[in-house]
Amino acid sequence: MRKQIAAANWKMNLNLQQAIELTNQLVNSDIHLNEEHQVLLAVPFPYLLTVKEMTDNVLGMSVCAQNMASTKNGAFTGEVSGEMLRGMNIEFVIIGHSERREYFHENNDILASKVKLALEYGIKPVFCCGEPLDIRESNEQNSFVEIQLKESLFHLTDNQMKNFIIAYEPIWAIGTGKTATSDQAQEMHAHIRAVIANKYGKEIAETVSILYGGSVKATNAKDIFSKPDVDGGLVGGASLVADEFINIIKSLQ
Ligand code: PEP
Repeated sequence: MRKQIAAANWKMNLNLQQAIELTNQLVNSDIHLNEEHQVLLAVPFPYLLTVKEMTDNVLGMSVCAQNMASTKNGAFTGEVSGEMLRGMNIEFVIIGHSERREYFHENNDILASKVKLALEYGIKPVFCCGEPLDIRESNEQNSFVEIQLKESLFHLTDNQMKNFIIAYEPIWAIGTGKTATSDQAQEMHAHIRAVIANKYGKEIAETVSILYGGSVKATNAKDIFSKPDVDGGLVGGASLVADEFINIIKSLQ
């Protein structure tokens, strides 16, 4: 049974006091996570340890980094390495978010290195993929996403691909209020699972959690998460509001 996951992506938002307040609200909420559920809080680097300490005793809740460097160490001012994250016992990292791809020019090759390094350090990637609007409008989204997966993930071993996390985030739906319909999400998630099954076999593909991201809110989460190949969501804006995110967590299957 693969995990059903609600992942919050705070991006570069909240001051420290607000971050602590939001974490407190989540920790003290009435959500009961079972073994099949996982909540990830992808918080800015400076808050990782604080939020980790606050959530360490909450079953199924973990912190997640939003990015990591593509090289092991060296003269890369401002970068944060996998070794540093591992040293803080951070278990998850988002890799390949469309904002990293667009504003920081991270291409499929760079992301392939990041994924490999993260796994070498025992950190589980939440690998993001997804197409821009023009690709969706020309109905080429399946081959676009397939290339992203092939170029950034297909160097991984069978073992590394087991229990992997992928987030499908159509770029046209991120922060725009425009959500893919639950049928559009299901169609792409089934395609992603088929692409993985082709390379790694059906059994491994069935263990991969595929999250949907793009304007997920408390009002649409249940419908989107009800689809068989949608295993939860990666949530930006709505994860900054405690009640919204708590209701999204409660919408997990
Ligand atoms: C995201 O940042 O990954 C995201 C999906 O943002 P939003 O939920 O705000 O669209």
